[in-house]
Amino acid sequence: MRTAIAINPRHAAHDEPRHVEQAARLHAITAALNASGLRASLLEIPARPATEDQLLAVHSPSMIELVRWSANRPHSWIDHDTYTTSASWDAALMAAGTAVAVVEAVVGGSARNGFALVRPPGHHATPTESMGFCLFNNVAVAARYAIDHLSIGRVAIVDFDVHHGNGTQDIFYTDDRVFFCSTHASPLYPGTGAERDIGSGKGHGTTLNLPLPHGVGDAGFARLFDDVVIPAIRRYRPDLILVSAGYDGHWADPLGPLTLSVAGYAALTRRLMEAAEEVCRGRMVLVLEGGYHLRALAASAMACLEVLTNKNSIVVDPLGPAGESEPDVSALIARMRQNHPLLAG
Ligand SMILES: [Zn+2]
Repeated sequence: MRTAIAINPRHAAHDEPRHVEQAARLHAITAALNASGLRASLLEIPARPATEDQLLAVHSPSMIELVRWSANRPHSWIDHDTYTTSASWDAALMAAGTAVAVVEAVVGGSARNGFALVRPPGHHATPTESMGFCLFNNVAVAARYAIDHLSIGRVAIVDFDVHHGNGTQDIFYTDDRVFFCSTHASPLYPGTGAERDIGSGKGHGTTLNLPLPHGVGDAGFARLFDDVVIPAIRRYRPDLILVSAGYDGHWADPLGPLTLSVAGYAALTRRLMEAAEEVCRGRMVLVLEGGYHLRALAASAMACLEVLTNKNSIVVDPLGPAGESEPDVSALIARMRQNHPLLAG
């Protein structure tokens, strides 16, 4: 079975060239994809807009209305760093719906795994607020759709964007059908994602946050995934793994203080893919989030896509290695293994 991709065809007019979250990001990935020769081997899924019911399953009516209203204007700002244009409503509906479409293809068995190449990004969008460049929470809409309509019992969402996926955490904080696991630099926007935040009520123990000191890169991430993230996924036993695939943890990224390389991202995806093969018949979908250095973004997304197609090619970072020593994550790993309900005992 092939790897599915879908590209949001309406993203380009949601653009602000002075803003880092701009149309050139997805253009860079599609250009790299076209140049790679990989595209012919992929199953290309038609993009489609989310329905309002799909949005309402995770967002409030007033938040959805605000995005619709903002997009009636040529240019406006929902908060100081989240813009809309007259095309943003269509772009945001299409981003969320395209994530749903790829998940449907993978769960339905027509693709082995997949990557939704979408923007605007989604993981900061909360139940009631668009924020942090994000209008609707694409990965959350897709997860909820899988549970409500595709007979999926449990979903693990792994978020390796450099920023904490506060919106995704909020949406599923009390829901034991979704395990949300985030690695993120700390301190950094939006300031959430503390170790002690592990979910509440029925969702107690189904949130796992790994706030990382600035400078953590490939070696630290490999240990965090081997010792915390993958064991937690094994323990949770999801029926589907979704990945909030943000590439602003790359060492060259202008927003992110971590030091992952392109090869590091490929290695994380390989680990997640192996876990998916072990626990959920390989069902895994990446959904694009951040990443603001265009070459690093395109190379990292392409490396992950190659891993999904099972090409075990040696990945070399075209920008070079990070070249810094990393802070030690041993104490964080030890605390997680001792304290987190999914790992302790
Ligand atoms: Zn980010």
